[in-house]
Amino acid sequence: MAKKELILLALNPAPILDLMERTLRAGGYEVAVANDRSGLDKSVQEAIPILMIIGEKFADQDGLSVASELLLRFPTLPIILYADHDTTGLAKSALKRGLSGYLYPPLKMQDIVDEVQKSLVRARHLGDWLRHEVRRTTSSLVEQAEISEAERGKLEAIIANIQDGVIVMDDRQKILFVNRSIRDIFGLDGRELAGKSLADVIQNVDLKAMMIRSSEGPLKYHEINFDDGRVFNAQYTPIPKIGAAVTMQDISYLKELDRLKSDFIHTVSHDLRSPLTSILGYTELIERTGPLNQNQTEFLHRLQGSIQHITALVNDLLDLGRLEAGFDTRREVVQLASILKYSLDMFDSQVRKKNIKLVNDIGPDLIPIRANPIRIRQMMDNLIGNAIKYTPDEGLVSVNMFMQDNQIILKVQDTGPGIPPEEQSHVFEKFYRATNAPDGVEGSGLGLAIVKSIVDSHQGRVWVESNMGHGSTFIVILPTQE
Ligand code: ATP
Ligand code: MG
Repeated sequence: MAKKELILLALNPAPILDLMERTLRAGGYEVAVANDRSGLDKSVQEAIPILMIIGEKFADQDGLSVASELLLRFPTLPIILYADHDTTGLAKSALKRGLSGYLYPPLKMQDIVDEVQKSLVRARHLGDWLRHEVRRTTSSLVEQAEISEAERGKLEAIIANIQDGVIVMDDRQKILFVNRSIRDIFGLDGRELAGKSLADVIQNVDLKAMMIRSSEGPLKYHEINFDDGRVFNAQYTPIPKIGAAVTMQDISYLKELDRLKSDFIHTVSHDLRSPLTSILGYTELIERTGPLNQNQTEFLHRLQGSIQHITALVNDLLDLGRLEAGFDTRREVVQLASILKYSLDMFDSQVRKKNIKLVNDIGPDLIPIRANPIRIRQMMDNLIGNAIKYTPDEGLVSVNMFMQDNQIILKVQDTGPGIPPEEQSHVFEKFYRATNAPDGVEGSGLGLAIVKSIVDSHQGRVWVESNMGHGSTFIVILPTQE
């Protein structure tokens, strides 16, 4: 015989208790009666009733409060309140506290049966809904887990097979993963690499330099060169909670194109120089061959100005070509302070014309360095020339040079228009002119490319710090030891 469902009665002994007991038994339920609070708690816990009827007063306690406490622990247990008298206030509180029914005298057997069944039907619906929700949530969790497992597999396959090299490492630079391209690039075969230190496994000077630079944060451009001529661009990206990733792309073909372009420019510049010199020579001769009228003289001078302009451009291009090809090997012991003073003197007339205040502060303890004095002068001329050229009349240009940690620091600061942040990394490229360069200020965009090549060939660093509208500071660091 199937086990009967249990209904628990928490009512003080009274005729109504007998009536309920009889009615419910007749309705096919098993009935248990709790006499006091501890008996009630025990029965709810152990016998697991399907419903409970509690009196408004039960064993000297407030039935509603006892019911509320029980509902906190057994939220799905249907509880009916039996009130001594019907009051709307009590009925409302019962509903508010989550009880499922309400009975009051005079009571007929049918009233009890109806209220119990109504509460049980509601409880069953609630139970069904709960089970359904739990099933739905768990199945969507399982589904999600399956999807993310599949996604992970896909992602792994993509990373393993893409052309870019990928290294993932932990925060102590121990390898977590390398893809096939990295193995090909560094010739690592099928060696087990996981857990090994990156520096031990891959002995490449540029990669090591990159890992040292990486303490500054993410890196977008870092060239990695190989003895066989291959060149890669590498990025360093910190990954929160994992460590970091290094990605690399082969840019050898771009480098080759760049070299061909530079060779071409160099050859053309070289071939242009002789005819330009001869054109300039002849324009000067024309003046000596006989008297010229005023117009002829003026046109001739304009012609000479333009030829000088092209000649300067051609010379800049030739200089760059030589610097980039690594031909600048002349080194002698030079005093940077005296070169800087010559350079500053040269700008005297320009400074006066624009009424610019040019101040300088040259440290007394500068030690001589091994350098090419002509190139150093060219570098200073370009930086100071730019500062004066881009600073409006009445502005201020200050040039400082001092020693710091065995390095010489040169700072050229101006009160010009500044350089937009997104363009600051481009101004050192050939022919690049900032979009905010003032109208009428001429230039070909080669000066800073020459500066960078010169500083690079002296193992130094150059960069710009600039505040739009407030001015720019170009900073050069030159090591005192080669
Ligand atoms: P060139 O020096 O070849 O005659 P240029 O001065 O235009 O021409 P760069 O010296 O290479 O070329 O400078 C590149 C660009 O950087 C300039 O066109 C200008 O827009 C910007 N720039 C350089 N120096 C300054 C500065 N001190 N203040 C503001 N902008 C500057
Ligand atoms: Mg310039």
